[in-house]
Amino acid sequence: MKTWIPDSRNFAYLTWKQVDALPRASTLLVLPTAAIEQHGHHLPLATDTLINNLLLGKALAQLPAELPIYALPPVCYGKSNEHIGFPGTLSLSAQTFLAVVRDLGASIAASGFKKVVLYNTHGGNTSLVDVLARDLRVEFGLRTFSLFGSPGADFEGVSVQERTYGFHAGEVETAYLLHATPELVHPNEYTTNYIARVDDQELLKPEGSSANFAWLTKDISPSGVLGDPLAASMENGERWSNEAAARVAEILVAMYNFKPRHGA
Ligand SMILES: [Zn+2]
Repeated sequence: MKTWIPDSRNFAYLTWKQVDALPRASTLLVLPTAAIEQHGHHLPLATDTLINNLLLGKALAQLPAELPIYALPPVCYGKSNEHIGFPGTLSLSAQTFLAVVRDLGASIAASGFKKVVLYNTHGGNTSLVDVLARDLRVEFGLRTFSLFGSPGADFEGVSVQERTYGFHAGEVETAYLLHATPELVHPNEYTTNYIARVDDQELLKPEGSSANFAWLTKDISPSGVLGDPLAASMENGERWSNEAAARVAEILVAMYNFKPRHGA
């Protein structure tokens, strides 16, 4: 897998002696969680994993050298059963995903570290990451943080429809990859599908409202795209990824410095 993580921030490039010398109580370890799943006719299966790596890599490159903040190798496979039926989608069950991240949390705690960030860029993992952040705190006493997607990116020029229902392989993801891995994007294969319209007054929404319906991509989108990639540009991908990376860097420093108001 391509990586933008600076070598000096890559936890897996350390020896155990180097790990042993890290300040255990303050070191912040970032565990990326993403997916290997269909992304329409025009983007690769690894899209969410590549975007995670791009944004985190650019963020880590901006941090002051003296801060002990490291990226762990990503959990590339996620809970992607909404995309089952499309060849190439490789999904973990909720139970397996929870167990894998829980076991990594156990190992992190056993190595004596206290602080971990779950950085997730796949929507299907979001509710599990919320559960895990609390459970790692309870079970191992880890100071656990969760971080999602592209904080800080303004997505200027993206329509309200696309911002709301451009869930998957739409303008933003396509722009990121046009910037990061243009050789993996197939612009003559763009397709457009929306799961819902912002101007519809339906009581039931696909996500994010008080009353949602559970959706599967194959019920809605023959191509696998939920959104519209047509307006995506390399320039926007670069700008948005830089905006997001700057905010991610700021957030990681805040997590590194975090002290709860009460207690340990
Ligand atoms: Zn995606």
